Amino acid sequence: MAHHHAHQAQLHAMQLAIIVLLAIATTPATALADCGRDGITILGSPDEHDDACEAVGEVIGHFADGGLVIDLRVTIRFQPSVAIERDGDEAASPANGEPRLASGFYHVARREIWMTRSTSVWAHRRRPWNLPWDRQLALSILKHEIVHAIIYQLLGADHRKLPRAWHEALAYAVQIELMDADLRTRVLAQYPRRDAFSSTLHVNDIVYGIDPDSFAVAAYWTYVQGGRMAFLRRAIGLQFEMIDMDHMPP
Ligand SMILES: [Zn+2]
Repeated sequence: MAHHHAHQAQLHAMQLAIIVLLAIATTPATALADCGRDGITILGSPDEHDDACEAVGEVIGHFADGGLVIDLRVTIRFQPSVAIERDGDEAASPANGEPRLASGFYHVARREIWMTRSTSVWAHRRRPWNLPWDRQLALSILKHEIVHAIIYQLLGADHRKLPRAWHEALAYAVQIELMDADLRTRVLAQYPRRDAFSSTLHVNDIVYGIDPDSFAVAAYWTYVQGGRMAFLRRAIGLQFEMIDMDHMPP
């Protein structure tokens, strides 16, 4: 009987060990803390976690300085590659069904930012603004996606009233504003003659589609000329004339 009890105890200990092991196995090893903010989850390496917290803090701080305080809820996932999906902020996949890769993507319904890891070969082949991929460039792309997440959250159900090109213009403007000064200088130097948009009517899908890098620089100068966050607040308040054709239902 004693032997039996001992056996039972061993069995219980073993069951407990299995349960603990299962719990460890099902918890993603890379799931770390959340920058000290309740709504933020980051799934990545320790370095990626640090970069993401730095980016989140800077962008939230920039909005707060501009009078837009937000309790951001977003999950940031670092992945080997990112394929754009429907229901995100970017255009849907092209008709041929080939997945379109992106360095970063905000999935509206999931409230998730998917970021291509800096170690990805694909990321290094991409040259936004014709500049080599580095940590500062990757950080700035992450900030761009965080701006999308904040603007979607601020707009709530109204997010569709802001045309897609406007979502991009604002994300690019704040991305460039919050760049490391040296990187910003190098980006702006690629388009020395690019000025602010002469009319906000130029903030549309066609101008964006022709040359997103140039569109981004013009969006930045428009943002600066318009008083930075004052400009952004007017845009997300839908407080000036915009073309309706960009967001007519298909
Ligand atoms: Zn974007």
